Amino acid sequence: MQNKKIILHCDANNFYASCECALNPSIKDQPVAVTGEVSKRNGIVLAKNELAKKYGVKTGDVIFEAKRKCPDLVCVRPHHKVYEKYSRRIRSIYEEYTDKVEPFGIDECWLDITDTLKFFGSAMDVANTLRKRVKEELGLTISVGISFSKTFAKLGSDMKKPDAVTVISFDNFKSMTYHLPLSSIIGIGRKLEAKLNRLNIFTLGDLAKYDENIIKKKFGIVGEKLQKSVQGIDDDEVQSVNDRKIAKSVGNGTTTLVDVKNKKELRSVVMFLCDEIATRLRAKHLAGSTISVSIRKNDLSWSSKSHTIAKNTNTSKEIYLAAMDIIDQIWKETCPLRSIRISVSNLDSDNLTQMDLFDTQNNRNKLENTIDKIRQKYGYDSISPLITKNSKLINKEALRIEDDEDDDLF
Ligand SMILES: [Mg+2]
Repeated sequence: MQNKKIILHCDANNFYASCECALNPSIKDQPVAVTGEVSKRNGIVLAKNELAKKYGVKTGDVIFEAKRKCPDLVCVRPHHKVYEKYSRRIRSIYEEYTDKVEPFGIDECWLDITDTLKFFGSAMDVANTLRKRVKEELGLTISVGISFSKTFAKLGSDMKKPDAVTVISFDNFKSMTYHLPLSSIIGIGRKLEAKLNRLNIFTLGDLAKYDENIIKKKFGIVGEKLQKSVQGIDDDEVQSVNDRKIAKSVGNGTTTLVDVKNKKELRSVVMFLCDEIATRLRAKHLAGSTISVSIRKNDLSWSSKSHTIAKNTNTSKEIYLAAMDIIDQIWKETCPLRSIRISVSNLDSDNLTQMDLFDTQNNRNKLENTIDKIRQKYGYDSISPLITKNSKLINKEALRIEDDEDDDLF
């Protein structure tokens, strides 16, 4: 039997550009683009508002191209910290209506309101209240999809925007969605779409009606799940806030095999620790922005310092660079170093950091995810940064995992 959950999917419209306008209302009624640096090669449009869209400005346009389409275009640099702050504030509004709030990217969330609906009226009431509150309290608009599954709720939030609500019910989902192309639902990317097209499957309806055995044989459990979900059979749960309770920090400390005399020597140890931390962060689906380093010298004195970088990370390279920066500031090589601790805090779920706009980050993430997979299969030591390979300083036995999961420490 179909259990009829009530799931909302809320998607902030033109999130980055809208945050910039909320932050600086004087540009609110102008065409706005969030762009990379004009002087660098990455001087492209990363995001734009509704007005800029009307002029034909597209994400990925080079700035001069965008300005040719729209001479009055206001170009602003991205402010990741601001976006993260708005993201958290939107979520905290959602969390007043249910504890089952699952973020997807920085500006989207699923809410399961099945159990809490009775306190707030109808699903439509909740959707409209959320829409109004986000607009009044934060100056942003959202589109809401209401449905009985995560897949159709997400599809619903795509159908009407900005500032709108769409209901896809168990009674009307076929007539509302079966004519749509495969790519309209989450989980079907370009490659899978092409493969399905080769079987003459072009719409969601085609997929729903296709021979289930062939789908299962050709696309395995993923295909089976996708087909079931377009047939309306989908019991994928919305994760609750408590399910993703987050560690306060993820860190490692170690005492080196011999005292370290200079920064050049220290690099391998720092890379070893950062690589370990990044791997654990990714395994926990976390990313953080504050990097802290403590060092103990052989006169037994301690120094420590933290630094917050512009956006959340869980890649070893970024953590390493921030850590080496801090070490430059706190260690002058006058007294040899005996032990070191590095940690990453200010953590959040890593799917909140939307990567698609920032290619170098994206590639690095892909690379490190591949490393994770190799290690899962062949063991941690099967692949490691070259710099750590022959280091005479790294003492794996002395590696201390120092994650802090206590919520009340700060
Ligand atoms: Mg959005």
